[in-house]
Amino acid sequence: MKPDAYVPLTAETLPQRLGGLPVLRERSGDPSTWRVREVGDGNLNLVFIVEGETGGIVVKQALPYVRLVGESWPLPLRRSFFEYHALRRQDARDPGRVPEVIHFDEPQAMIAMEYLDGHIILRRSLIEGNRHEGLGESLGTFCARTLFRGSDLSMGAAERKADLALFSGNVELCDITEALVFTEPYFDAPLNRHSPALDPIVRELRADATLKIESQRLKTAFAARAETMLHGDLHTGSVMVKGDLARVIDPEFATYGPMGFDVGMLVANFLMAHCAQPGHGPDRADYQEWILSVVRTLWVGFEREFTRLWRAERTGMLFPRTLFEDQGQAWAAEAARERWLGQVWRDALGFGDWSATVASSGWPTTPTSKASRTRAFGPAARPRRWCLAARC
Ligand code: ADP
Ligand code: MG
Ligand code: MG
Ligand code: MG
Repeated sequence: MKPDAYVPLTAETLPQRLGGLPVLRERSGDPSTWRVREVGDGNLNLVFIVEGETGGIVVKQALPYVRLVGESWPLPLRRSFFEYHALRRQDARDPGRVPEVIHFDEPQAMIAMEYLDGHIILRRSLIEGNRHEGLGESLGTFCARTLFRGSDLSMGAAERKADLALFSGNVELCDITEALVFTEPYFDAPLNRHSPALDPIVRELRADATLKIESQRLKTAFAARAETMLHGDLHTGSVMVKGDLARVIDPEFATYGPMGFDVGMLVANFLMAHCAQPGHGPDRADYQEWILSVVRTLWVGFEREFTRLWRAERTGMLFPRTLFEDQGQAWAAEAARERWLGQVWRDALGFGDWSATVASSGWPTTPTSKASRTRAFGPAARPRRWCLAARC
């Protein structure tokens, strides 16, 4: 066997296999003191928490198949390579919001990263009914910084094209999104599973040709509009919180796509959490309102930071200052910004609707009322197919 041949880690072998790395010893001290537990609750990968005498580390390793399903669904190890590259870029674009990468081993498909000690997954926190001050702003700002700074509005053309080429290799994970989000809900695909109570809705979705055309139109946008590096899997299971701190993890689905995709997936997950509250406990009405306020502040935070960056960091090939500000036409650059933001919001509502539809199977929910939608988005926002999320 080649010395760097891929072998999955176990809690028992990890100290011996990684204990020789100085960067890990610096964090966690003598490997003989390391306590290791496997905590992966995700669908795809192994995740170990390593706690030593001087601190903790998280070690995430890809498996050559989908963890949740097993070896019958192979998935390439190189998703770890894309996660590593996405984490590095996100940390540069919104410093401190993602775990710091400590070490990357490509043949082992393994990333050692900062341990988010004391953090819990946001989805769990929303089920528990916890509030987190500033959550919407933090996530909106994260989206604005990563999406703006990964686009042709900001990056130099050569660097941007190199990144586009790099992330275009993340074929298999894109394929999961393209199939599971945009196509498989609308026919009897083998991986589908839903409560029989939802049968009438499922029948209705599959009979709705207009809806299927619309989902394929959104899929076209996802696949063809390579605007920026997306996180690609930005649901509430990819956010960790500790009090008012929010951190983003797990960008292995990173790909170039339309800005509204990340924003929409987050919005959809908050709406799902809103709908699900009555299933989690009594007296959740105030908390439901709080969740809607997070959606509002997420968008306000996105818009505010995107606007700041548009004015201060528009250094890419799109909408160059030479055409506008330098000719005394700052007003035109502002008009273009408003139009761009309008497109992101429309896309987000479209993508969000689809994520919510997909995520809806089997959830204990009550309908989102038109009134609460209006409170979240204002009377102007009337997403055409919002009814889908509302019926979940
Ligand atoms: P997957 O790609 O398999 O979904 P994730 O990156 O989402 O894996 O990690 C799975 C779980 O491991 C998370 O839900 C979280 O509980 C834990 N985890 C992942 N990264 C960290 C981290 N840096 N610090 C603390 N816990 C983490
Ligand atoms: Mg995950
Ligand atoms: Mg940092
Ligand atoms: Mg993942």
